[in-house]
This record gives sequence, C-alpha cells and structure tokens, in this order.
Amino acid sequence: MKNTCWTTSCAIVLVMVPRAITAQELTTYVRFDYQNHIAYGILEDESIHELAGDPFAAPRRTGRTIRRSDVRLLAPCEPSKVIAVGLNYRSHLGDRPVAAYPGLFAKYPTSIVGPESNIVIPEGSQNLHYEGELVVVIGKRASNVAVEEAHEYIFGVTAGNDVSERDWQRDDLQWLRAKASDTFGPIGPTILTGANYDDLLVQTRLNGEVRQSESTKDLIFSIDEIVSYVSRYVTLMPGDVIFTGTPGSTAAMRPGDVVEVEVAGVGILRNTVVAAGG
Ligand code: MG
Repeated sequence: MKNTCWTTSCAIVLVMVPRAITAQELTTYVRFDYQNHIAYGILEDESIHELAGDPFAAPRRTGRTIRRSDVRLLAPCEPSKVIAVGLNYRSHLGDRPVAAYPGLFAKYPTSIVGPESNIVIPEGSQNLHYEGELVVVIGKRASNVAVEEAHEYIFGVTAGNDVSERDWQRDDLQWLRAKASDTFGPIGPTILTGANYDDLLVQTRLNGEVRQSESTKDLIFSIDEIVSYVSRYVTLMPGDVIFTGTPGSTAAMRPGDVVEVEVAGVGILRNTVVAAGG
C-alpha cells in the first residue's frame, strides 16, 4: 500500500487511490489527535489510515498514515446521546428479579472520555464504581426500528465503562450525578465493525486483576432488542452510543487505580482514576 507521508515537509509524496469503506468489513475505527489535528482513521496493526469525514457517511481514506504511538487516541465517536441499560446480566442482578423490558437511563455526551483520559472522582464522592460494558455505536438515523432490522442501524461496538457513584445512585432523586457526571463514560479505544456482537467477551480489570468477565451472549436483552426498544421512544443518530449493561459485581475505585475494560477485537480501554483537583 502506498501512502503519503504525514508531514508536509516530507520530500517523497506517494499518491494512493482512495477506496470506499464498507461497514461489512471487520474494521477498527479510531478518532485521534495528532499535533492538534483531530480526525477519524482506520487502525491496522500499528498504523492509522486517516479518513476524510466521519465513519458514518461513506468515508474515504485520505492516503495519509501515521503511527498509533504518535497520536493521542480520543473517544472513537462524538455521540449526541448516551443511553444506557441497567440490570442486563443475570450475574449482576443479585436478588433482583429479571425485568420485563430494558431499564433505560441517560448519561451526558460530556461524560464521554477516551482511552487516554482520566476518570475524575468528583468532590464529595465516596463510592465510585467501575462497570465494564459492551457499547453499541449507531450508524444511521433509527426510529421505530424492528428487532429484525436493528442490525442495519448498528455501525459497530466499542468498550465502555459506565462509571457509577453508588451512594448518589441510592440517595439522589434521579441518577444524574451518579451516572452522568463528567468523565463517567469512558469509551474506546476503537469501534469494531463486522463482528458478531452477540458473543463478545467483556472483561474488566482493576490494577491488572480480573474483576468481571462475561460474554454478551449472556445479555438478558440482546443488542438488537435494545436498539429496537430505545428507537421506539428516542430517535437515534449516527454516532450515538448505548451502554448495554454490566456483568457480575463491581467495586469502588481509588485515586491511582487503573481500570481496564477489554472487548474482544475492540482492544483495551484503559483509564486512570484521579481525585478532583488532584
Ligand atoms: Mg451500567
């Protein structure tokens, strides 16, 4: 493959004929910052192939490539909405009954951070938990979509951490502070397209120790069922994300902790926990 050199000062510039990208391919998309230039790209091995535009609208490769180690990876999309499903694995229910329909709540786009950002413990928080999850990324406008057609509206999947303040979740009128505070929604490092999202291993590690490990085949409400259900009430747009629920048990994080959420094929979402103002 021929590529242009990234820098304009490069003496040799080779031209690559752009080709269309189709969502059916098993592809990993990233969003990155290289010397204050933000773009989407396709990650192949350790190289990022820059895209013109965003991945949801027939992107083309610009022909420029850059090493992954030379960029700062950002959240792989910029959602207009961040929706989440609670209590969606039997292993997480405890004594609670299985719900008759998906239990939805909202996070804010401003809670979203990327794989190289910190999770900030807000002032007054005493009980901040990780929740490793598969996150669905919507590919096109979806309203009143049937379960059987939902897959056509799903662009791909990424890893997410539905960071949750358990005391606030218990005591507040709504889950706004508990679930939607700034940095409570790390996602990334890539969006994986073309995978069988109904059987992907989701694993969470705290300081290298495995704390959660379960496949999405154990979801109570499947990915397609969730997308269909949400679309009955809320119009989903390209780049919107849905957190699909966390398996097993969770625990509190402390300043200095490193939490990793790994989804097979997506990569490792790794974030460090810091205290506000620290
Ligand atoms: Mg959750």
